[in-house]
Amino acid sequence: MTSTLPPSLPTGPVRGSAVPSSVPAPVSLRIRQRLELAGAPFFANDNIAEHLLEGELEQLEIEVTGKVRDLLRSLVIDIDNDHNTEETAERVARMYLHEVFKGRYHQQPKIASFPNVKKLDEIYTVGPISVRSACSHHLVPILGNCWIGIKPGDRVIGLSKFSRVADWVFSRPHIQEEAVMILADEIERLCEPQGLAILVKAQHYCMKWRGVKEPQTSMVNSVVRGDFRHDPSLKAEFFELVKQQESLLAT
Ligand SMILES: [Zn+2]
Repeated sequence: MTSTLPPSLPTGPVRGSAVPSSVPAPVSLRIRQRLELAGAPFFANDNIAEHLLEGELEQLEIEVTGKVRDLLRSLVIDIDNDHNTEETAERVARMYLHEVFKGRYHQQPKIASFPNVKKLDEIYTVGPISVRSACSHHLVPILGNCWIGIKPGDRVIGLSKFSRVADWVFSRPHIQEEAVMILADEIERLCEPQGLAILVKAQHYCMKWRGVKEPQTSMVNSVVRGDFRHDPSLKAEFFELVKQQESLLAT
């Protein structure tokens, strides 16, 4: 492993020293410095997996656990005696790093694409695919459905792979508009379709659980690229197919 830390930064504890420089740099700081050095963005909805060294995710889990414990203490919750919250910090750290925000810290699931040997060029839609995310502003859930329309290009991927990539992209703190764009970029990269359309309809707990407390409001947004953007009839066909899939659900 090559250290990218500048020489002036502490790299390990110095026995018997009480000065702050004796404290090892937290793993999150080492990762942030590496990202900055590489010029890689690390916004809430960026994936940083390729910048993590082996073992760092485990170290990060320990660091985050400590910080969540501090948060609970700052919220004046007696985590030392309350049997319900004594292991909450460990659970929350695991949940963030390996479940609800796994799309930041874990690599994209392996998705193989295949040549479109039969030169399929009819559009198809996949959906609804459940999507689960959290708003970047409050870290509360965004839960919804996604529909993907494809006009195949030179390569194709299996239907179930759309769910996998959507789950990976949405499992980060997001705003819905950006989540849809990032998902579109990933799908384009995976199968280079001639046309791509994505529609997401989601409930925002930002609005349901807090704030204005509107339980029925949902947000719908879409992105259309390639032939779906240039050909209005194709775009209309996508939205019609989604409507049909939705009505199938209602029956
Ligand atoms: Zn929010």
